Amino acid sequence: MSMDAEGQMQFLYALRSKGVTDTRTLTAMERIDRALFVRGLFAERVYEDMPLPIACGQTISQPSIVGLMTQALQVSPRDKVLEVGTGSGYQAAILSLLARRVYTVDRYRRLVKEARAVFDALKITNITAFTADGSHGLPEQAPFDRIIVTAAAEDPPGPLLAQLRIGGIMVLPVGQSDAVQSLIRVTRHETGFDYEELRSVRFVPLTEGLGTD
Ligand code: SAH
Repeated sequence: MSMDAEGQMQFLYALRSKGVTDTRTLTAMERIDRALFVRGLFAERVYEDMPLPIACGQTISQPSIVGLMTQALQVSPRDKVLEVGTGSGYQAAILSLLARRVYTVDRYRRLVKEARAVFDALKITNITAFTADGSHGLPEQAPFDRIIVTAAAEDPPGPLLAQLRIGGIMVLPVGQSDAVQSLIRVTRHETGFDYEELRSVRFVPLTEGLGTD
């Protein structure tokens, strides 16, 4: 299934009505077909604004949340971005159109492998996907201009704060995994960090160690 003109209009309209107004974000989301990242039973609901199940008991986020997080991240074309929580690869594919380079990690080997196959099919060449516990960040590639975490921790992980460049921005959900969490934006300054609460959200937990799948 691919998006027809009317489906596309409805998809973009839903994003705008939920506050995704940044033109670069909307253009990137128009170009990356969410249907490529969802298989099976739920494929017919792929253009609705809802999270959907993917392999390994994980979820692809709701498009409006992907849009709000992307615009909150204020990515510019020269940025090196780290995403923790590759999942389906949808968020990373959108970021790849906005940034110079995207590193994305997931604790499930299978998800990384499947996401890589979609990046290849889309001929996206500026994403590097690794299987790793992203709560440690990626020290070899640090510092990052932007960091996005798509799984919820109780607090922003220290290694990720440390790997954010001065002037850099990190967007992540924080809070208990079984409760409502807050989406926050952290900006790093010369002398410390600024924290801004953006909205309430609900994400799968940031879990330590590698997955078994
Ligand atoms: N951004 C994804 C949605 C991610 S769902 C998308 O666009 O589809 C959250 C993902 O975070 C899951 O795939 C889960 O396996 C991963 N995750 C949870 N804890 C992690 C950790 N410590 N390191 C890396 N990935 C983790």
